Amino acid sequence: METFTLFCANLTILLVFSGAFLVFSVSSAHQPYWRSWSLANFLLALSLGFFALESHLPVVTVFVVPNALLLLGFGVHLNAASQFAGQSAAISRLWIPVAALVVINVPAMIFDSYGIVYVSTNLLVAAMAAMTARIYAGRELGGLMSRYGLVLAFLLMAAEGAIRATHGIALGKAMGAGLSDDVVLTTHLLASLVFVTLAGAFALGIFFERTARQQHDIASRDPLTGLYNRREFDRRLEAMLSARSSASFGVLQLDLDFFKQVNDRYGHVSGDDALVAVADVIRKNLKDGDCLARLGGEEFGVLLPDVDRNGALATAERIRRVVEAMPLAFASEGFRLTVSAGLYHGTGGKLSARSLMQAVDRSLYRSKNNGRNQVSVAEAA
Ligand code: GH3
Ligand code: MG
Ligand code: MG
Repeated sequence: METFTLFCANLTILLVFSGAFLVFSVSSAHQPYWRSWSLANFLLALSLGFFALESHLPVVTVFVVPNALLLLGFGVHLNAASQFAGQSAAISRLWIPVAALVVINVPAMIFDSYGIVYVSTNLLVAAMAAMTARIYAGRELGGLMSRYGLVLAFLLMAAEGAIRATHGIALGKAMGAGLSDDVVLTTHLLASLVFVTLAGAFALGIFFERTARQQHDIASRDPLTGLYNRREFDRRLEAMLSARSSASFGVLQLDLDFFKQVNDRYGHVSGDDALVAVADVIRKNLKDGDCLARLGGEEFGVLLPDVDRNGALATAERIRRVVEAMPLAFASEGFRLTVSAGLYHGTGGKLSARSLMQAVDRSLYRSKNNGRNQVSVAEAA
């Protein structure tokens, strides 16, 4: 392919992504990575433009400007990755490589060797690209598939930088400023095209992937207690029933006793505090795989997968006891909250989620009618 076409393709993609990221940054002041991604693309486009115009520029400009812009572009990319991963950006990633380049330029100009500039710039680019790849591969972004696109993009640039540096060393003093129209240049421009496309597309991808995840998490939780909500509880119960495995499980429904009195005596804010405290104390008394949800108001639901009858009963009793023993910061010394519970234990059989919950609800009402602060087990429905 013609080098001119490849140059234009690189430039177009860089400017399109730079513009798009700039638009996103306007409405996302608390997401500084949009601005950084936009700036990184713009600096790389500018650098490419200067490389293309080299033959018309004075020699000092040729030695410093396009290479400095290239380093700045990768420095900003490195900062963008940090910002996206929730770490802080560092201005030193911008000025240290450029300062190093300027220092290297003095002997390069004395010996009129563009090779020194070329090799050092590419080594610096390789190092910064590798550091960026490492951030996208890090634990903070675990589980997001799009990060592999970004890791690939920056590893490609790290390899490119290393190859270019090696090439520069091999050429030695024969290396001239400016770019010759040959196979080497075509290859580099193609690699760069792959990089700018991958980096741009997967920056968008990783943002939307993470946003979708966060939205899903918000939609499945209760805002007051942070527990799962009824929607998530129902979804998991349906999943447990549709698995139709022979393993038995437990379903527990809990309702705080006379909770209206807490609100009446201490106010709704204290009532909210009590709900949060109850949620915490129940959570601490469950195993890792158990699912605790706030079904609504002062009612909680627990799914106990793969548990025997005694284990399910013991868990329900333990929760009843810890709630009863729980001190309430806002209440008088002798005041105690209690909870009534209904428990189902079995394999689910042919039960639907609705009829299973009806059975649990009936047993919960038995606990209420028999004096509260107790656990009743659902009869085989
Ligand atoms: P019972 O033992 O029969 O369950 O009595 P109860 O008072 O707990 O039952 P009832 O259903 O009559 O009242 C539940 C109360 O829970 C009513 C409401 O004021 C309170 N409640 C429900 N959701 C919230 C909440 O989010 N915050 C606060 N503070 N109170 C809530
Ligand atoms: Mg209730
Ligand atoms: Mg109640």
